[in-house]
Amino acid sequence: MKIKDKIRKDLRKLITYSSARNEFNGKANVFLDANESPFNSEVNRYPDPFQVKLKMQLASIKGVQLNQLFLGNGSDECIDLLIRLLCMPFQDTIAVLSPTYGMYRVSAQINGVKVQAIPLNTDFELPLEKLKQLSGDIKIIFICSPNNPTGNVFSIVDLKIVLKSFDGIVVIDEAYIDFSDENSSLEILNQYENLVVLQTFSKGFGMAGARLGMLFANSELIEYLNKIKPPYNISVLTQQYVTDALTKINEIHKQIQIIKAERNRLFEVIKKHSFVLKVYPSSANFLLVKVENADDLYNKLRSIGIIVRNRSKEPLCENCLRITIGTKDENVLLLNALSNYSTKLKKNEKNIIYR
Ligand SMILES: *Cc1c(COP(=O)(O)O)cnc(C)c1O
Repeated sequence: MKIKDKIRKDLRKLITYSSARNEFNGKANVFLDANESPFNSEVNRYPDPFQVKLKMQLASIKGVQLNQLFLGNGSDECIDLLIRLLCMPFQDTIAVLSPTYGMYRVSAQINGVKVQAIPLNTDFELPLEKLKQLSGDIKIIFICSPNNPTGNVFSIVDLKIVLKSFDGIVVIDEAYIDFSDENSSLEILNQYENLVVLQTFSKGFGMAGARLGMLFANSELIEYLNKIKPPYNISVLTQQYVTDALTKINEIHKQIQIIKAERNRLFEVIKKHSFVLKVYPSSANFLLVKVENADDLYNKLRSIGIIVRNRSKEPLCENCLRITIGTKDENVLLLNALSNYSTKLKKNEKNIIYR
């Protein structure tokens, strides 16, 4: 596979916008090249367009080369840029599994790219036979692992089967990998030219407000992404904030351990309620819970100020709520609410029987 052949034809020779900070990035005392204000010295300068300091930290933490890493304004920007780079509008198609994260579809539609949805098996596993027969105008397949909203992680063995059989780019979205016991696909990054791995600071790392997503791929694809990205897509504030936060990475890992322990505790408690039909095993920071009447429970929780995500209309998710794991205190409030709901349901049942 040649990466160049996968890039949108009209973008292969794109002459990029050359910013002031591209043309000169050495040391100097007087910067009069970018029409910046000389005042307000915290953020008066444009950020480093290629975030070298931050990327060096991240490359070492993640065990990749600097040129295998791209940073986006959230993974959502990475998703959008990938679709734009690889898919010709009103011609090409991406494949997504269903149910999954909604932004792949939305991003494709905004870019005039068609979407083929392939249902997961009923156990939420990959439909490998169907994935082996994808047609030629499909340029990218998005696989979210651990998957949102189902919570399960796909095995590296299965992902390898897709990577081998599919002739386009395979994007493994690992937004929730920090909560999983399965290894990251980063360990096979050097083996598959068509592999792109997405990770984010929004979930396990607790920085959704900073907007920072990581994209890992072979260096040739990264070069093309650098050509089409908005020049200053990661702000000075974000680059500085995350650089500082990474010096306290041990604390972040402790928080992730707390969330995982809480998830496992909630799993055991929630599944005991009789109105709960199933709690799906989760490798993420949420639980997908199938109940007797999802709309009713959703409304009851909302009425006491607890907001969860109603996923009932998603394929294979009838009567399912997706519940994010909160702090211990928040989780206690949730569990109390579920107990009260259960008690009320039982009372109602008795009334019906005796009347
Ligand atoms: C939350 C989520 C993201 C969001 O990423 P940002 O970095 O916040 O843009 C990406 N992918 C999946 C599957 C998610 O659930």
